[in-house]
Amino acid sequence: MTPRRILVVEDNPLNLKLIRAVLQFAGYDVIEAQSGEEGLDVAQQDPPDLVLMDLQLPGIDGTETLRRLRQGSLRRDVPVVAVTAFAMAEDRERAALAGFDGYVEKPISVRDLPGQIEAFLTGASEATGESPRASEAAGRNPRGSV
Ligand code: MN
Repeated sequence: MTPRRILVVEDNPLNLKLIRAVLQFAGYDVIEAQSGEEGLDVAQQDPPDLVLMDLQLPGIDGTETLRRLRQGSLRRDVPVVAVTAFAMAEDRERAALAGFDGYVEKPISVRDLPGQIEAFLTGASEATGESPRASEAAGRNPRGSV
């Protein structure tokens, strides 16, 4: 099986480096963009199996990037997962309203991220029509705190 390709859209170089390292170690093929505009280009050139998207980006934000991805070349069944700041309920609500398939929280958990990504990918491949995705489970705080 060819490695699944994850597009990471993140403007913070340290976060990007961490996410890349964790996902590559877990066997994913990682492609990256440091702005929404770049993300749109990369997604078109090299279609991903999942997109991990920071919400706060220079230029167009994560929400607008998601909107343009969905209008554009991205396949409907490709999950787009928001990266939200921990304890920012506002961010999570915004992500849900904007149509993200779920979220993971910053700071990124090195231990949990591969499993969270896998759950979103599994949910996407099992989802038919409007059935809920496994992403819902991953969207809940995996550490069990509030
Ligand atoms: Mn950011």
